[in-house]
Amino acid sequence: MEIKDVVIVGAGPAGLSAAIFTSLDGWDTLLLEGEWVGGQAAIAYTVMNYPGFPPNDGAFLIENLQEQVTSPPPKGVGAEIRQEKAIKIDTEKKTVITDENQYEAKAVIIATGSTMQKLGVPGEGQFVGKGVSYYAKRDYEKFSGKKVLVVGGGNTTAKSALLAKTKAEEVFLIHRRDSMRAYPTMVRRLQKANVDIRYNTELKEIKGDGTVKRAVLFDNKTNEEKEVPLDWIIICVGTEPNTKLAEESGLAVDESFVKVDDSMMTSKQGIFACGEITGCDNHLVSCASDGATTGMAVSEYLALEKVKKGEMFKGAINGKYADEYLQILKEG
Ligand SMILES: Cc1cc2nc3c(=O)[nH]c(=O)nc-3n(C[C@H](O)[C@H](O)[C@H](O)COP(=O)(O)OP(=O)(O)OC[C@H]3O[C@@H](n4cnc5c(N)ncnc54)[C@H](O)[C@@H]3O)c2cc1C
Repeated sequence: MEIKDVVIVGAGPAGLSAAIFTSLDGWDTLLLEGEWVGGQAAIAYTVMNYPGFPPNDGAFLIENLQEQVTSPPPKGVGAEIRQEKAIKIDTEKKTVITDENQYEAKAVIIATGSTMQKLGVPGEGQFVGKGVSYYAKRDYEKFSGKKVLVVGGGNTTAKSALLAKTKAEEVFLIHRRDSMRAYPTMVRRLQKANVDIRYNTELKEIKGDGTVKRAVLFDNKTNEEKEVPLDWIIICVGTEPNTKLAEESGLAVDESFVKVDDSMMTSKQGIFACGEITGCDNHLVSCASDGATTGMAVSEYLALEKVKKGEMFKGAINGKYADEYLQILKEG
């Protein structure tokens, strides 16, 4: 069993930002990532709303962030990222179990984010990876000469359709309402790129033989159903928080988000959570900020735990020093 000061589960914007703050305060920090570093942000196309980052690819932002997190000082903060999926957390012992290892931590941060929401229509599960996907950026290179359907009405849906259009022969977008939720500029870009937008239309079923061949669409104004031939479907109807690990570990969950108090601590002592699983606004800047707040809170918690045991620690903790903590303790 390896011992760490802080183990962070999930290396998306929230987990990576938390690691910056715990590492800068001198705590030995390990991030565990089950899929790809950067989470949803790594597959965001043109990020237009991150302060100090002129519109560019999300992967570029994450590349810089990963370098900052893992490079030793002075270039970065020297935290470690390991490609391991956490399968269990013992919230009493503060141990994190992965397929390969077990870690004991003084504090654990859960930052498992969200995954793309499923529609639950017949054929969806059967054709995932065979013509059904949730992230255009991971598949669009395969769209040359293909007819692609994009489902949803938000900015991510619009960006998926625009990306698909760079390769596909034909892209059409369906949305169950009579207008898009996406920014008006995004809708204008879709129109300019000749993406065929069909409102009041729902996906009812996906059909094929090995790969996707057809989709059954339903017009919810006329109640008409029709089958259309196509090659690929990108489902982009929002995200759902990844709370399974937290719930199975016995942490309190409220309205499908992990419950945290003002210091970002969950219902268990020393187990913290941040980012989209806590209900944070679904934006990069919000999740990075939430992670930073959590990193600082964890740092204070660890310092206080040391002082309570009569141990000293090196360095400044958020600008405070050990004697100030002792004073806080004396004052009760
Ligand atoms: C296609 C797309 C485009 C977007 N574009 C923008 C944009 O332009 N601007 C913007 O502000 N926001 C955008 N967003 C939203 C933004 O990316 C998210 O709000 C942000 O990434 C959430 O951060 P997070 O760290 O909370 O979670 P996530 O980014 O979801 O990261 C969570 C990480 O935890 C990992 N994980 C989960 N379970 C485990 C486990 N058991 N063990 C180990 N690791 C685990 C996941 O693999 C993932 O890497 C976009 C999202 C998508 C999907």
